[in-house]
Amino acid sequence: MERSEVKAEYKWKIEDIFATDEEWEQSFKETQKSINFAEFAGKLSDSGILLKLLKKIDAVSRLLDRLGVYANMRHDEDTSAAKYTAYYAKVSSLYSEFSTELAFFEPEMAAQDDEYLQSLIADSRFSDYDYELKRIKARKAHVLSEAEERLIGMAGETFDTFRETFGMIDNADLPQPEITFGGEKIAVTHGAYGVIMRSEDRAARKEAYEKYYNSYISLINTITSTYHGNVKKNVFLSKAYKFSSCLERALFDEDVGEEVYNNLLSAVSENLASMHRYIADRKKILGYDKQYFYDIYAPLCKGGELELGFEEAYKKVIEGLSPLGDEYIALLKRGKEERWIDVEETRSKRSGAYSIGCNGVHPFVLLNYKPSITEVFTIAHEMGHSLHTYFSDKNQPYAKSGYTIFVAEVASTVNEVLLLKYLLSETDDVNLKKYLLNYYLDMIRTTLHRQTMFAEFEYEAHSMVERGEPLTRENLCGLYAGLNKRYYGDAIEHDGYISHEWARIPHFYRAFYVYKYATGITAAINIAERILSEGKPAVDDYFRFLSGGGSTDPVSLLKLAGVDLSDKRPFAFAMAEFDKTLTEFEKLMGI
Ligand SMILES: [Zn+2]
Repeated sequence: MERSEVKAEYKWKIEDIFATDEEWEQSFKETQKSINFAEFAGKLSDSGILLKLLKKIDAVSRLLDRLGVYANMRHDEDTSAAKYTAYYAKVSSLYSEFSTELAFFEPEMAAQDDEYLQSLIADSRFSDYDYELKRIKARKAHVLSEAEERLIGMAGETFDTFRETFGMIDNADLPQPEITFGGEKIAVTHGAYGVIMRSEDRAARKEAYEKYYNSYISLINTITSTYHGNVKKNVFLSKAYKFSSCLERALFDEDVGEEVYNNLLSAVSENLASMHRYIADRKKILGYDKQYFYDIYAPLCKGGELELGFEEAYKKVIEGLSPLGDEYIALLKRGKEERWIDVEETRSKRSGAYSIGCNGVHPFVLLNYKPSITEVFTIAHEMGHSLHTYFSDKNQPYAKSGYTIFVAEVASTVNEVLLLKYLLSETDDVNLKKYLLNYYLDMIRTTLHRQTMFAEFEYEAHSMVERGEPLTRENLCGLYAGLNKRYYGDAIEHDGYISHEWARIPHFYRAFYVYKYATGITAAINIAERILSEGKPAVDDYFRFLSGGGSTDPVSLLKLAGVDLSDKRPFAFAMAEFDKTLTEFEKLMGI
């Protein structure tokens, strides 16, 4: 479909940011002129000057964000439009200019004494910046001398080499074998692999699985060396910045305590029995003598598809999210009426779905809506992001409005869980019930169990290098195979392919990132349960979280919603939720 054929009501109202391209260009010129911070350098020990600088940083970065969001959205409407690719490149270079101009800020702030920083934190004029100032003060223990920082800065570009090299392997050099699927010869690209694994064609799954893994195995020595290099780099940086481990450094950056990580790993480990049961159930339902890892995404339930047009789907989402109260529902309606959402798939439009905030305007959502049940969840998910952004922008000053990755998937997942429970409660269709329970089980399995297994893997790999042990193909595959057995149990064949799975996970080049998916869904399951069982008081608490932006550390933000991740109970609750869902599923399936 061409974009010009789409009804206006199904196109996002990008004009809310800039009415025309000319306005964008005008703002670009003005913003460019305002990127000039030299007059502040060397004067930050004067609190008046510092305050003026912080306000100017806010003002300029707000303008930059608007320019960037507009360019980004225009580009995504039609990725072939050269004009907006150029806009995007122009904003990127402006961002670089901005950060180069401000290069003096961090080191100069880190050089201020504790007393001064403490006085700023206590100063009401600086209330928009108190959390940022607390972080600057905490980071002082990990700041190096100017000469050391310069050296590390000079080496900085080489640090990205490992991730870039893996990207080259994964996206350019990896052999792309062909298989027969749906009566056609197709290349097993990353995208096709996912589709094939979710299909009912077992022979194709087997062939794709073996060939896909053989591609990684053919490059395994290079991948091992690249990954080893990446871990060694992390160990170097954590030592250089005076941390006792890579994990400590990663958690410090996120302002999260180590107990959160430990709670996650131990709660999941202690509750793997229900995961083993689910894997054994899958084998029974699929009716296989032997189950392999190419069977693990095969669909279990047919006929449960709920195919709704966008209008009906949106109505379902509103019904499903009604436990969040009138204000939330009114905003969902407003978002649709005021055209925050770009609904239809059109030629050269960016694929997938996302939510993007635009401070001072409103959030936007990109969809490529097709009638299917998973897309109903996508609407709930993306609107969850959008309303989190909306409440944070509305209730926080600009400097504290942005929330971090650690909490970013909470609101979206709360919405998915609420919608799922609503759909389960309102239907008498047994097939749909089965489908929904299975959807929930797989959501928890892939976001909670699987990401925690990844977290254990990277923790062990980093610990090995920290202890002075090398990472070899044998010990990485051995480590992965051991974890895989412990997580999935013995109702599935642990063949020589799956022990190489670590070699194909791009996230491993962003160390200690994936555990945040697991903590996010854990928090969401707990919040959704509280909302459904306690009603208004729980909703009020949840709104305090949604309104919190990045005003403090993520664990404290979640405490506002009544979830304390420094305690093991929320993790145990999420695992119990999996077990309970599995029991219901087994009952319906007659197992
Ligand atoms: Zn999301």
